[in-house]
Amino acid sequence: MFGVEKMKLTAHFDNNEFTCKCGCGLNNISRLLVEKLERVRKACGVKFVITSGCRCAKHNAAVGGVANSSHVKGYAADIALTDYNRVIIIQALRKEFNRIGIAKNFVHVDVDPDLSIAEWRY
Ligand SMILES: [Zn+2]
Repeated sequence: MFGVEKMKLTAHFDNNEFTCKCGCGLNNISRLLVEKLERVRKACGVKFVITSGCRCAKHNAAVGGVANSSHVKGYAADIALTDYNRVIIIQALRKEFNRIGIAKNFVHVDVDPDLSIAEWRY
């Protein structure tokens, strides 16, 4: 495996948690995004599992992402949700993010400056 070395970004997040999952090594994650996630993580006190962070165009297409996805631009992360953590995490995210997409098993947040304020369900 090549790619980005593990590096602590904040108290609770490492760089490699946001690296493209296809193995290409892409990591252009937004510092603002990670700083916001860290504040929410601290407020929650529960572990966050990042299921998708950066995506190269190929991986984005493979997982069915929209062409101009915020994940490709490094502005987005998906966090796993369970019955146990879903309410805690979603409520805390709303204090820090104004773009939130809620699915059954994950929640998407992004800081994409090209997109407007929204909350949606998948
Ligand atoms: Zn990739």
